[in-house]
Amino acid sequence: MAGSTRQLSDLVAQARQYGVRDEAVLEAMGRVPRQRFVPRRFAAAAFDDGPLPIGEGQTISQPAMVAMMAEAAQLSPDDRVLEVGAGSGYGALVLRALAGRVVTIERRSALAEKARTALASQGLEEVEVVVGDGTLGWPEEAPYDAIVVTAAGPAPPSPLLEQLAPGGRLVIPIGPRYGNQHLMRYTRRPAAGPHEVDDPTPSGDFREERLTPVRFVPLIGAHGYAPGR
Ligand code: SAH
Repeated sequence: MAGSTRQLSDLVAQARQYGVRDEAVLEAMGRVPRQRFVPRRFAAAAFDDGPLPIGEGQTISQPAMVAMMAEAAQLSPDDRVLEVGAGSGYGALVLRALAGRVVTIERRSALAEKARTALASQGLEEVEVVVGDGTLGWPEEAPYDAIVVTAAGPAPPSPLLEQLAPGGRLVIPIGPRYGNQHLMRYTRRPAAGPHEVDDPTPSGDFREERLTPVRFVPLIGAHGYAPGR
């Protein structure tokens, strides 16, 4: 049977080929069962390093990209993380393997429901899946040590920057709706001195880094692209 020799360790090797060096991330890629998050007819392709359809015109991201984004988020075991774009739930579980608390938000309720079911079958209650426009963030649990966005927007949504803790990282693909985009990281400066606490202009508060060229589905929402098309 084609694919019978493929396994999760292939995803680890592919992530390494893309330059991922964080051992905790590589270990998570070898542990989180991607095959449980793809439609059954694609199970054999779960160990290939490509995106796959998950319904509603959306895709589960390429695994090497999931690994690169997790590495870029620079996670520690106690971190509180927001993922925007739950999709299949796979990426959220990779993040959960590296952090303390993960909330993932999805605008399509049918996908959120499937992600919840897939995550529950892994016995992990600690990933919370919520439905809504993730370009507004999820203020209920802010601030976050990291926010990882798995769809591409025109610019970093201001609510997401605002919901970062001091030192927090926003990892997000930025670029045209369909076309060449770049994975960006916005790092909030560590806590300011007492005289700066009420600084009303947080825009100067962030370090911006362009990491790598990428292609993602569009981020749809109030601080993203318009729906339709
Ligand atoms: N992390 C996912 C990747 C899903 S693809 C996985 O591992 O499978 C990106 C997802 O972002 C899609 O499901 C899409 O519906 C969702 N999305 C797009 N705009 C969004 C928004 N404003 N808020 C929340 N989810 C959004």
